Amino acid sequence: MKINIDSKIIEVNEPTTILDIFNKNNIDSNKFIAKLGDELLPFEAKLKKDCSLSLIEIDENIIKSSNNYLAKLILEASVLKCFAGTEVSIPKKDINKEEASVVFYSKERIKKEELTTTKDQFKQLIKEGINFELNYNQNLNNYYKNELLNSRLDFNLVDYPFVFINDSNLIVRYPIFKESFNIREIEIINFSGEYYNNDASETMLQKISFVVANDKKQLSKIIKSIEDKRLRDHRYINENLEIFNIDPVIGLGLPFWLPNGAILKQEIKKYLKEKEFEYRFIQIESPVLGSKLLYEKSGHWNHYRENMFTPIELPDNETLVLRPMNCPHHVSVYKSKIRSYRDLPLRFAEHAIQHRYEFSGSLTGLERVRAMELTDSHIFVTPSQLKDEFINCYKLIVEVLQQFNIKIKYLSLSMRDPNDKENYYNNDEMWNNAEKQLEGMLNELNLKYEKMVGEAAFYGPKLDIQVETALGHEITVSTIQLDFLLPERFDLEFINSEGNPEKPIMIHRGLIGTYERFVAILLEQTMGVLPLWCSPVQVSIIPVSEKYNDFARQVESKLHDKKIRCFISDRDDRLNNKIRNAITKKTPYIIVLGQKELENNLVTYRTYGNEEQIQISIDEFVSKISKEYENRE
Ligand SMILES: [Zn+2]
Repeated sequence: MKINIDSKIIEVNEPTTILDIFNKNNIDSNKFIAKLGDELLPFEAKLKKDCSLSLIEIDENIIKSSNNYLAKLILEASVLKCFAGTEVSIPKKDINKEEASVVFYSKERIKKEELTTTKDQFKQLIKEGINFELNYNQNLNNYYKNELLNSRLDFNLVDYPFVFINDSNLIVRYPIFKESFNIREIEIINFSGEYYNNDASETMLQKISFVVANDKKQLSKIIKSIEDKRLRDHRYINENLEIFNIDPVIGLGLPFWLPNGAILKQEIKKYLKEKEFEYRFIQIESPVLGSKLLYEKSGHWNHYRENMFTPIELPDNETLVLRPMNCPHHVSVYKSKIRSYRDLPLRFAEHAIQHRYEFSGSLTGLERVRAMELTDSHIFVTPSQLKDEFINCYKLIVEVLQQFNIKIKYLSLSMRDPNDKENYYNNDEMWNNAEKQLEGMLNELNLKYEKMVGEAAFYGPKLDIQVETALGHEITVSTIQLDFLLPERFDLEFINSEGNPEKPIMIHRGLIGTYERFVAILLEQTMGVLPLWCSPVQVSIIPVSEKYNDFARQVESKLHDKKIRCFISDRDDRLNNKIRNAITKKTPYIIVLGQKELENNLVTYRTYGNEEQIQISIDEFVSKISKEYENRE
């Protein structure tokens, strides 16, 4: 059997453990572990076929993950001990996260209160000391037999070891460092239901999410950091702000905008279209469906098919696809007439709905969806215009992100992997030229960036503007991509000043990415405290009692005339409750109206996050808010 370790071929007998391979080849098992694909293998895992491994240096994070993983196995054994007849589901690979989980099946639903015994059992086991001897005995208790032996794991390649804890034999899928195991404390932070494989037609399982630590102090620190993240998660913020909803009856990953979300989105759109006008973009509109032939020609069908929905076959032999991108459509707009060098640069912009297939398990609120509206543009330029256009796009993006106070994590210059001829259009000259030009422009603009090999689009290199979400996901908010390929594929031309046909270069520009992702980022970065101009409700009007409801309506009407969005809190409730409610909704202005205000034509207002109450005349207030709205404050 041949094992390739970091490009060195080693001959071994079959089957053989990682530890044996290490020992026979002088690889220090105190320093390294083996990685197969994207999995770190336990030292006791037996390889059964030719394969390629890479060596990974053991560091603090790996030790920490290993401890969390072992804690997860101990919790699994505790669940099995506490609840007769439960079956643990195959451990998922969520070991690198602070928060781990145990998923299990139980005929009778277990209640949250009952988990106290599981926690006690966990601590008891640790106190007694775990025997970490591993075995290869697949003669298992009843649990995960189905999953395991029906082999959702590749047992043909690797024999995973098992560890026997508290009468339960559990599969081990991560390296274990027993000397470093120092976990003493556990806290259960969530208990919920989950379908097997996230598939609603499968069995309902129960899921314990938990954190572990070596002492109580560290444990409370971890719990606090998880709670902070939860509060910053756009899905949590959405619960109070009512921006969007996802209903499995409509479809997973197909969010719809609730009234508040529709206002927010339309305000953003209005602003972006004004900016695009200022930067001399031209708006176009094109259909969400396109012929499959168009996408074959553009290369998307070849390179992007797994992200596309199944084609729609029409009775008259036409085949349509839901577009996953808009580029080929915009190319067709370019081709709708003969273009001269005088027409260039041509900047087509479209805020366009598109659809991409994502695995149901990866769908996350507005962050990962299947239908999205992209703030897209394609710019057609002569080679000599490329640099100025790139700078124009970059300036526009930076100005727009600043308007929203979006913090950029870093700029990523995404290049092709020169050895990957399959996933990238195979023309080294074209790539070298495009990459050189893009890098040259970034250097000229004095921008700091990180070079990412193998991250380019199949048609060209790109500059991605990266932000980090509350969950720690790194996502691209804006992008500028150079493309020398599509103009060639579609025979694009312009007539140059000598009267001869020449090829334009295409720039793809995503201004703020999709509205869906952008709103997720915006909600997370602002904690839901939106600026006045795009807040769904800009002023919350609170009459101190029902007696002043008519007065409240008069004030609302004056603001409404100036297109200010108000909400009158006119139901019979305590004043403090009404104020608290407006604060929960993060309304920028709260005005309170009572006898004094009525007699003197005043409003008493306060702004979000400020306790100070200010009194001004109604007219002054109306003009103050109108001005702030107009200036997009
Ligand atoms: Zn494009």
